[in-house]
Amino acid sequence: MITDILDMGEQINLLGQVVVVGSGIAGAEVATHLAHNGREVVLLESGRGQFDPSIQALNNVTFLGKHHRKLDPDANYHRFLPPELRGTSRMRQFGGTSNIWTGKWKYFEPSQFSGRDWIPNSDWPIGFDDLLPYYNSAAKDYGFGDLQAEAMRTEIREFRSKLAAHSLRLSSFYWEEKPTRTAIRFGDEMRRSQNLHVVLGATANELRLDDSCQRVTAVVCRSLEGKEIIVEGDEIILAMGALETARLLLASDRQLPGGIGNAHDLVGRFYTDHLKHHTGTLWPGQLTQKYAHEMQFKQKPRFCVCFSLDETIQKEHKLLEHALYLKPIYEKSMDIVPGRPTCQDNYGLVVAYRVNLAFEHVPHKDSRLTLGTKLDALGQRKLEVNWCFTEQDRESLPKIVEILTPRVEEAGLGTIDFGELPSIENMTDAAHQMGTTRMASRPEEGVIDTNCRVFGTENLYVAGSAVFPTGPSYSPTFTILALARRLGEHLLQKTPAKLVQLSS
Ligand SMILES: Cc1cc2nc3c(=O)[nH]c(=O)nc-3n(C[C@H](O)[C@H](O)[C@H](O)COP(=O)(O)OP(=O)(O)OC[C@H]3O[C@@H](n4cnc5c(N)ncnc54)[C@H](O)[C@@H]3O)c2cc1C
Repeated sequence: MITDILDMGEQINLLGQVVVVGSGIAGAEVATHLAHNGREVVLLESGRGQFDPSIQALNNVTFLGKHHRKLDPDANYHRFLPPELRGTSRMRQFGGTSNIWTGKWKYFEPSQFSGRDWIPNSDWPIGFDDLLPYYNSAAKDYGFGDLQAEAMRTEIREFRSKLAAHSLRLSSFYWEEKPTRTAIRFGDEMRRSQNLHVVLGATANELRLDDSCQRVTAVVCRSLEGKEIIVEGDEIILAMGALETARLLLASDRQLPGGIGNAHDLVGRFYTDHLKHHTGTLWPGQLTQKYAHEMQFKQKPRFCVCFSLDETIQKEHKLLEHALYLKPIYEKSMDIVPGRPTCQDNYGLVVAYRVNLAFEHVPHKDSRLTLGTKLDALGQRKLEVNWCFTEQDRESLPKIVEILTPRVEEAGLGTIDFGELPSIENMTDAAHQMGTTRMASRPEEGVIDTNCRVFGTENLYVAGSAVFPTGPSYSPTFTILALARRLGEHLLQKTPAKLVQLSS
């Protein structure tokens, strides 16, 4: 069932076998999976069904380093959003950020998981193969089409091999026609469920521990109207996005100074997003003319492609991961330039391609979130976000541009005019916050273990991109979903089913 915290009247206690905080893709996925399998689940969500600016304001932070993109009604990215939301990078609403996201699903490259010796802290303690069954089952259930079969399609294989001759890598991703909105995908099932109780308007403000300080016993929630509830559970999952998950761990410092899971001062550290450059144009070459159909972004749903330098070149030049997106600009929006080749795809005559180049940055300790002294409307300390970069980031970025640009031209993709060359200063974030409770094999190196359990606790878990040890330069949400499914399976082993009957 779905209720509002205000519907609870005098009641102040709730009990679930599993308590999930956050109803975005990560939280909704794991909560419904557990409920389907007979577990009693309480799902706590700060937002409500309708967007509420005063609840959204609970997300406000102070920036100490590079800013996130600002709200900009005239922004040329996020044109699909209502003007007042353009530039928003996360949402406090039932369904979370899935209410506004774009719906691109991409596997992480297998190389992302194996540490790269030229990038400090780049090792994942799990491998691509650990996630593959969950990627595959998610792709099937969500109807993404077969990404692996797409990668082997004849035209894609030919296109890929032509690029490979110039050390360029092509990879595919799936773009939904209507991006998955979790409130829609799971809403009816949640409303009908007997053993999944969603509470809206309930902002988690504190985690309470038992005397050993190793077991979380309860989540304390408040609403802006002043209602407080205490929700107890055997297993607790934080699925609040990378910023708010770290914030709650740090804020729960009454019993453990420094907060929960923070014995090694790692909660909030290794914060990463990826930098995105938006102002480039590609004037198409012969290869683009030949494969223009493969480079379409319309009509969705469809598989799309993006490009980068291959792993050998990345290793040779000690480069960071990056992704080049080429989006067709049709003659309706741009005049044909005499003397420049055009391309024909199923949608029309392509005059040029808009270039979006995204860069990973080095995971490092000083890029971090801390609690400041300013308070939000619930009296909680606001986050201070110090998103900062290393010398290696500053060196790798121009090197990527320098090596990539001529190879794109030699391969026949075309000539890139970046406008202003990419620099940390002129790029935006990508609304992909990651890394604040990184996964590691040992508590000295990270906040959560390979089962997404917070080190030093018996029953506290994290679902979402907060657990990523590295933040690649492309869509994170497929991996968020795969990890949430994997966590759901793990918790099924740990918690006995109370209900025989399925909830849907
Ligand atoms: C405009 C835009 C476009 C995007 N496009 C893509 C894309 O194409 N592909 C891709 O892979 N990614 C994309 N992303 C990123 C993607 O949306 C996120 O990676 C993904 O939605 C994160 O899901 P989540 O469940 O981890 O977090 P969220 O969806 O952010 O969910 C967190 C939930 O926790 C709730 N919450 C927060 N604090 C509390 C609290 N204290 N108590 C209770 N509840 C709380 C929030 O209200 C929210 O519902 C995009 C993002 C934006 C902004």
